[in-house]
Amino acid sequence: MALFVQKYGGTSVGSLDRIRNVAARIAKTRAEGHDVIAVVSAMSGETDRLLGLGRELSERPAEREMDVLVSSGEQVSAALLAITLEAQGIPAQSLMGHQARIMTDSAHTKARITRVADERLREAIGEGRVVIVAGFQGIDAAGNITTLGRGGSDTSAVAIAAAVRADVCEIYTDVDGVYTADPNVCPSARKVAQISYEEMLELASLGAKVLQIRSVELAMKYAVKIHVRSSFSDAEGTMVTGEDESLESVVVAGVTCDKKTAKVTLRMVKDEPGVVAGVFEPLAEQNVSVDMIIQNVAIDGRTDLTFTVSQDDLARAKDVTEALAAKMGSGEVLIDDDVVKVSIVGLGMRSHAGVASKMFRLLAKEGVNIQAITTSEIKTSCLIGAKYAELAVRVLHDGFGLGQEI
Ligand code: ADP
Ligand code: ASP
Ligand code: MG
Repeated sequence: MALFVQKYGGTSVGSLDRIRNVAARIAKTRAEGHDVIAVVSAMSGETDRLLGLGRELSERPAEREMDVLVSSGEQVSAALLAITLEAQGIPAQSLMGHQARIMTDSAHTKARITRVADERLREAIGEGRVVIVAGFQGIDAAGNITTLGRGGSDTSAVAIAAAVRADVCEIYTDVDGVYTADPNVCPSARKVAQISYEEMLELASLGAKVLQIRSVELAMKYAVKIHVRSSFSDAEGTMVTGEDESLESVVVAGVTCDKKTAKVTLRMVKDEPGVVAGVFEPLAEQNVSVDMIIQNVAIDGRTDLTFTVSQDDLARAKDVTEALAAKMGSGEVLIDDDVVKVSIVGLGMRSHAGVASKMFRLLAKEGVNIQAITTSEIKTSCLIGAKYAELAVRVLHDGFGLGQEI
């Protein structure tokens, strides 16, 4: 007898029929003699709908209240699934984040889980129930409802799996595993049977939304086995596991595209010690994480400073940078959110030269201009015009031979 954590994403619980389908899967796992903790997302489109309501009423809605608002989406799907199971004679109980004691910090709309106090989960399992936890939400030390950022139900599931020492954390979604590129963008994308935590972490942080980044970080830290698979088929999905368990490392394992990026340029800043720190400190204080940074050679003691941020942080980044420009007597602030970041990721890049240059050549052949570049040991990213997003993914995917069997 094993303990399964099964997370069902928005599409998987997107209608009453689909909720019935999820109930049938849970029933099957139970019939095979296993215990199940299910973690659910809101029905597809619901989180966006709720966010839209809040934003219609205010340009900068209070984040605490947005958390109260959007967390209701998961409350609905958790209750509907529990009702379905109970109607079929399977004892079930839904638990909201606070009831399941998913403790977080107080960073509303992007809280981090600090602890899962699992007594109540274990108690319900001990009573022979299926426990259904509302994903994406938790509670801070002061008792406020928090949410974990878009895609956060993946993280709820992995945190719970770690806390209860589940045998596996199954992530049920609308594709049947992790692919070499987004299968909805790149028709030749191939499902991989296994991928290392490290590669998955890069893919997730570079735009492959199939798993939230934080869920992969937690899985890596607590050695939680993740199985990404489809709720619409019985096909084996992708196992995300430790590096040495994965197949021989390929040079490039996947291609991703992050569309939620924006470029900020602060013109004509003084080129002297302390200026860069003076720009990025206030951004950090406002919780804006900066990704790529470019500073050019100065002419006449002044230079342009360009950096990228997530579009979610753009309004705050703009406010901070404009205030700084006025204070420092620098030039105008230019904002460009018509950009995307395409990346290639692979453990094998550590030991292979010429991978980045091949990427640049493949993009150049298509006439795609590269506006900024960043690299790490196992990835290279290029900032390009948004209109090239899909083209770039396909060209890099096929150019690195990812569609073929290896
Ligand atoms: P859920 O609602 O189940 O959490 P998401 O929409 O968050 O599902 O994530 C699944 C989606 O991730 C897929 O429909 C697919 O378009 C996208 N995706 C992006 N990159 C990849 C990839 N490399 N492999 C698989 N899916 C990917
Ligand atoms: N419902 C939330 C979202 O749409 C969380 C999730 O689905 O994982 O981002
Ligand atoms: Mg998701």
